[in-house]
Amino acid sequence: MTSELRLFNTMTRRLEAFESIDEGHARLYTCGPTVYDYSHIGNLRTFLFEDILRRTLKLFGFQVTQVMNLTDIDDKTIRGANEAGKTLRDYTDAYIEAFFEDLETLRIEKAEHYPRATDYVDQMVDLVKSLEDKGHTYRSEGSIYYRISTFPEYGKLSGIKPEENLAGARVDSDEYEKEDARDFVLWKAAKEGEPSWDTDLGKGRPGWHIECSAMSSTLLGTTFDIHSGGVDNIFPHHENEIAQSEGASGQSFARFWLHAEHLVVEGEKMAKSKGNFFTLRDLIKKGFDPLTVRYLLLSVPYRQKLNFTFDGLHAAAQAVERLTNLRRRLDHNPTVDGAGKLSLQDVDSCGADFRAAMADDLNTARGVAALHNLCRLVNTALDEGGISQDAMLRIESVLGEINSVLDIVPTAAEGAGDGDTEIDDLVAARTAARAAKDFAQADTIRDKLTELGIVVEDTPHGPVWRRTK
Ligand code: AMP
Ligand code: ZN
Repeated sequence: MTSELRLFNTMTRRLEAFESIDEGHARLYTCGPTVYDYSHIGNLRTFLFEDILRRTLKLFGFQVTQVMNLTDIDDKTIRGANEAGKTLRDYTDAYIEAFFEDLETLRIEKAEHYPRATDYVDQMVDLVKSLEDKGHTYRSEGSIYYRISTFPEYGKLSGIKPEENLAGARVDSDEYEKEDARDFVLWKAAKEGEPSWDTDLGKGRPGWHIECSAMSSTLLGTTFDIHSGGVDNIFPHHENEIAQSEGASGQSFARFWLHAEHLVVEGEKMAKSKGNFFTLRDLIKKGFDPLTVRYLLLSVPYRQKLNFTFDGLHAAAQAVERLTNLRRRLDHNPTVDGAGKLSLQDVDSCGADFRAAMADDLNTARGVAALHNLCRLVNTALDEGGISQDAMLRIESVLGEINSVLDIVPTAAEGAGDGDTEIDDLVAARTAARAAKDFAQADTIRDKLTELGIVVEDTPHGPVWRRTK
């Protein structure tokens, strides 16, 4: 099925119309977190991009099956567990739980599957055996390595070609730089102080890259639609996944490869190792609303770097406030008879702009702009005489569609409604005082509301109040 949705494929280095292998069903593998610590907002930017991707696929009519792995065994988790004096399972359990909490806080939709690497060791062993049978591996001191010279297409995703004279040189660590493009480890011989499994391959534990190859084919099949991650995954991780999966199956692995650019702080990648990171929890402790963080992280299209600043976060808070007020005004202004001040065509064109923006490789900046445009049109129409019932229905339908992807407009239940009888009563008392021409009393009540951080706006349909931060 071809859709109007176009995505930039890292493999072909161009925009392509998205097609799914199975009609109407998109199968998506998104590399997940290494659960050795809390996610920082750079990691979360990548996971939020994948949330936008899955929601956009649904917007364009696809059913989605998404798999996100949890890397609960690698160099970093083992080191962390040893330092904390815990078993690997106990240590990673806590961070998995924290990860799910962060996803929920950021309104990231749940994937269909969250496989843990340690639950798929058997499948990894089978995959390594099949690579051995096909002559892609060699053994050294109990470990098994992938001989990249046996896979002539090695480098096709990243464009990195290993130097000829490095043939036979190998690397044991899970993560390494492109200068180290060389044979990589599939199975690591058991070591003192590391968990290990007694398997047909000998006693040991899997390398990082084999995890994703084994879990993706188990849960999504040999060939699936989309594989994604952050740009740092292109090399070596995804290059190695391709060598493993295609080396073993002889078939194409993923059709589309999507990669999110990094979140940077003063030009540098936000990373644990650099110490320049914030977690979502840090920002919430500083008083920022999770919705503000979601807004900021999705406001820049995923293929552009996002420069994190507190000024940017404050601006995002203001934008969210504007959207909260939009919701409140829509809920509290009755519709008017007749044509009203907002045409159906104007509302529809905001909806069409939004779809076109998302179809254009998930251009969230343009999508957010379409939402603000709708917000501006609604505010103007309400100021100038109101909105007809037809237009109101159309606004709700367009807003519903936009929010099914962006999810940045709060609902009444989430604080955009009144729902606070103390304030409702004060506002009503002020209205009554004004009607009775008791302006001194009306002003006193207004001062009281100001103290409570409430602004009352007198619309043609009566007063509407909102909170100021
Ligand atoms: P990790 O938990 O380190 O395996 O990373 C999880 C995901 O976050 C991977 O897809 C990385 O590519 C991504 N990632 C790491 N650092 C950043 C960053 N500064 N900005 C955006 N994504 C990142
Ligand atoms: Zn992966």
